[in-house]
Amino acid sequence: MRSILLIYTGGTIGMIKDPQSGELRSFDFAYVYDHIPELARLNINLKSISFPKPIDSSEITQGHWKNLAQIIVENYEGYDGFVVLHGSDTMAFTSSALSFMLQGLKKPIIFTGSQLPIGTIRTDGKENLITAIEIAAAFDEKTGEAIVQEVAVYFEYSLYRGNRCSKISANQFEAFESPNYPNLAVAGVNIEYLNDRLFRTKKSALTVQSSFSNQIALIKLFPGIPFELYKDLFNINNTKAVVIETYGTGNAPSSAILQALISSYISNGGLVLNVTQCSSGSVKHGAYQTSAFFQKVGVISANDLTTEAALTKLQYLFGQNLTRDEVKKQVTTSLVGEMMD
Ligand code: ASP
Repeated sequence: MRSILLIYTGGTIGMIKDPQSGELRSFDFAYVYDHIPELARLNINLKSISFPKPIDSSEITQGHWKNLAQIIVENYEGYDGFVVLHGSDTMAFTSSALSFMLQGLKKPIIFTGSQLPIGTIRTDGKENLITAIEIAAAFDEKTGEAIVQEVAVYFEYSLYRGNRCSKISANQFEAFESPNYPNLAVAGVNIEYLNDRLFRTKKSALTVQSSFSNQIALIKLFPGIPFELYKDLFNINNTKAVVIETYGTGNAPSSAILQALISSYISNGGLVLNVTQCSSGSVKHGAYQTSAFFQKVGVISANDLTTEAALTKLQYLFGQNLTRDEVKKQVTTSLVGEMMD
């Protein structure tokens, strides 16, 4: 019998309505469990562990990522797979972060949650949770190995790579998308795994890295953006890297202020990463004149990384004792399938 550890961090799935304010707030895990008696009927040895104080995922911090990784590492040998119940709001950040923290995985870590609380009649939480558990328990009959050996997100019949997806809807059950990488599996009558898309590590053992930098900033371009207000972000004493969400294939206005901020930041040792605001496609420096400056001064193209993966990858890389050149090299290399090679 397969053994799965269910880790409850919080999120809508386990929330209940505050009778006074009508707001949804996190509740303890017994509440989720009581509403899914089917869990006892799965032919799986299921154990659960809960954050002492379940949270709305908007409250997630790097400290929570560390706790989550620690729970998985401490239980890694004892279980065949892990299911993490997490709010959908920041799920793509946490799944990206975990994919960088825990490299060399041979077992699945499946994130799921729901748009409606488990106590509501039309909840999507039941199907999401039960299928996520089945995916975490799935193994190849010939080799005995887990089918999924990476961090993934399961939501509304689709399994996505954890560092490739984003939350795209606040109210549809289909809340996630992975525009730059195809789904890893589709759940219909059967769960169909797309085997050639599944990540396989080249590492021989699990490695864990739990330190993060919190000196990474993000700027999203918009017409009329007052660049002078951002000057403290382009200061090497405040940040190690700035991610710029640019237009289309990585374009920005030819602002003398922006160019001066970027040039001096990079020459002082800062790193600038260019991510597109588009949900699909990738950055191509030099495709238009409006991105030629970036190439000239050494801004790094994030290729087809999502913003979530770009930010967590930089937080992760700068959390290690790497030189700037080493960070530059790793940021442009796919470490765990997060970007096109
Ligand atoms: N606000 C909730 C959270 O992210 C939404 C959800 O669970 O889907 O925790």
